[in-house]
Amino acid sequence: MYTGSCLCGAVRYDIHGDVDYASICWCTMCQKQHGAANGPYVNVASSDLRIVAGLDAITRYASSPGVERAFCGVCGSNLTWQMMDHSDRIAVTLGTFDTPYEGRVTHELHTESKPGWLP
Ligand SMILES: [Zn+2]
Ligand SMILES: [Zn+2]
Repeated sequence: MYTGSCLCGAVRYDIHGDVDYASICWCTMCQKQHGAANGPYVNVASSDLRIVAGLDAITRYASSPGVERAFCGVCGSNLTWQMMDHSDRIAVTLGTFDTPYEGRVTHELHTESKPGWLP
């Protein structure tokens, strides 16, 4: 099991079950949302994700048709990315994990928009 939380601690979650894979998305929407070079995520079964605190603090934003990004409305931490057509799966932000993730990133998406200012 993995546990995670947002920056302010209002939202806390557990993941029961296995991570399918970890990805880094370099798309410009992830760059904007994360305020960073990329968005790192783990892909899990939606039924394995349990919000244990702060459900009412979660704000949702449809960044494109059928895609929903959830974040803490108090501190702004990005929490999940989900395609509503495939709502059995959900991508959870790896940066909000409290449990160390022992796996490695195996999928990189939209590398064409990787910024040039990376070290
Ligand atoms: Zn928060
Ligand atoms: Zn992206």
